[in-house]
Amino acid sequence: MHDYHPGLEGYDERQIWHDGCDECENRGKKLLIYTLDRTNQVRAYDRAMAWEMADYDAVGPISKAERPLLEFIIEARRFMSVALS
Ligand SMILES: [Zn+2]
Repeated sequence: MHDYHPGLEGYDERQIWHDGCDECENRGKKLLIYTLDRTNQVRAYDRAMAWEMADYDAVGPISKAERPLLEFIIEARRFMSVALS
């Protein structure tokens, strides 16, 4: 079960997973990508790409919980671009 996200310290609505919510932190630690619906898959990808392009105004604060997900997306994209080239 998720906690009430807007009440959490450091909450930002742009984040995929939120610090201070056990469910979110667990998903981040275990990289439970399958829990993301289509909308959040797209949001996570866009967020990772904005972060990689150093568009920090768009990204806002990155939570510890979502950081492994964003890093994974960036690395997976790099890996695929090499593997498919
Ligand atoms: Zn949560």
